[in-house]
Amino acid sequence: MQLSSKILSGMVLGIILGLVLNSLGGADPDQTPLIAWIVDNIFDVIGKVFVISLKLLVVPLVFFSLVCGSASMGEDVKMGQVAFKTIALYLVTTAIAVSLALTIANIVDPGVGINTAEAANYVAKAAPSFKDVFIGIFPSNPFQAMVEGNMLQVIVFAILVGVAILQAGESGKTVLRGCQMISDVIMRMVAILMNLAPYGVFCLLAKLFTSQGFSAIINLALYFGTIVFVLFLHASVVYTSLFALLTRLNPLTLFKNMRPALLFAFSTSSSNATMPITLNVARTRVGAHNSIASFTIPLGATVNMDGTAIMQGIATVFIAQAYGLDLTMSEYLAVVATATLASIGTAGVPGVGLITLAMVLQQVGLPVEGIGLIIGVDRLLDMMRTVVNVSGDGMVTAVVADSEGLLDRDVFNDLSEQDEHQKAIAG
Ligand code: ASP
Repeated sequence: MQLSSKILSGMVLGIILGLVLNSLGGADPDQTPLIAWIVDNIFDVIGKVFVISLKLLVVPLVFFSLVCGSASMGEDVKMGQVAFKTIALYLVTTAIAVSLALTIANIVDPGVGINTAEAANYVAKAAPSFKDVFIGIFPSNPFQAMVEGNMLQVIVFAILVGVAILQAGESGKTVLRGCQMISDVIMRMVAILMNLAPYGVFCLLAKLFTSQGFSAIINLALYFGTIVFVLFLHASVVYTSLFALLTRLNPLTLFKNMRPALLFAFSTSSSNATMPITLNVARTRVGAHNSIASFTIPLGATVNMDGTAIMQGIATVFIAQAYGLDLTMSEYLAVVATATLASIGTAGVPGVGLITLAMVLQQVGLPVEGIGLIIGVDRLLDMMRTVVNVSGDGMVTAVVADSEGLLDRDVFNDLSEQDEHQKAIAG
């Protein structure tokens, strides 16, 4: 079986087992001690170790591949141009995502007639301000940035090192060779981890669905359904048409090539934890050159969250309707702007989109405790929006690489060749 089919099987089996255990009483230690023990000591342990191992690779992988990437980018292409195109595409697609979300939410009216009484208990956490997010991009201590896993700072430092390597003559060349070797070793670790993925994914989903059946969804079915619909629409219409228009390549092949990363995104609900896989897939299956992918993928995993922006747009309309408040046109524009910025400020880890939603609600004067209304279904929505977040990173990477002539179309189009490539990387 191909690796992505194995991961998919792990996912489906995990969900089925979780739902069965949930219907047998869930992971309540008083009622079903055996199930609770299995969930807590087997699924939870393996799932957590799996996610921890993914995160282990993020900082070294990003640092070394981006140093190599920016050093070679300096030779082949104009770095500023790539950065500009990438950031512009990330922002534009996110703004489209929120606008789409607001439009559809206003047609569906998911929040009309919702009882807001139970929301009073929610205590909002402080959302970061845009100024802090911007200043936070610049590192004062590279090691601290790595220890804290502050990806934007690691990205800035790695680009600086890459550019300096280019200007440092012979010593630069030696350092670059070293970085390339280390980067190869780390990619090898990613490949090892990918082979363990089906088991990790199985445990993550079995645990989640044992403790969370579908009961929470029923009350909020319209809210849930609207988000799922817009997520689907954004990926299947906006991404595919942009991609086809800009590259003249088949968008279905793009999604097929990205599949392992999308399955990881769904299972971990974290763009950051998925990033090693996204980078691997972007290089070996999509065919983007490392000089592009090593910049666009880590950046995207940190700042580009279209799925999150969609949730925030719909949640805003939902909360406004639930409280019987009307939004004006200029408030809608403010939602588009803040949700786009909030998606930049959202860290690619589970559930953060709900915290930065506070920023959007505050901006238009909606009650922040309204978040309490939707928190019950957010875990499942998080999985789905993370898939869209990661798809967006892959789509923009392919478009930017193609526009620089750095997308290997043979790798993109030829699955058998990709497997060869994959095997070469996996050894
Ligand atoms: N879980 C999302 C991600 O990692 C962020 C969020 O919306 O909470 O991409």
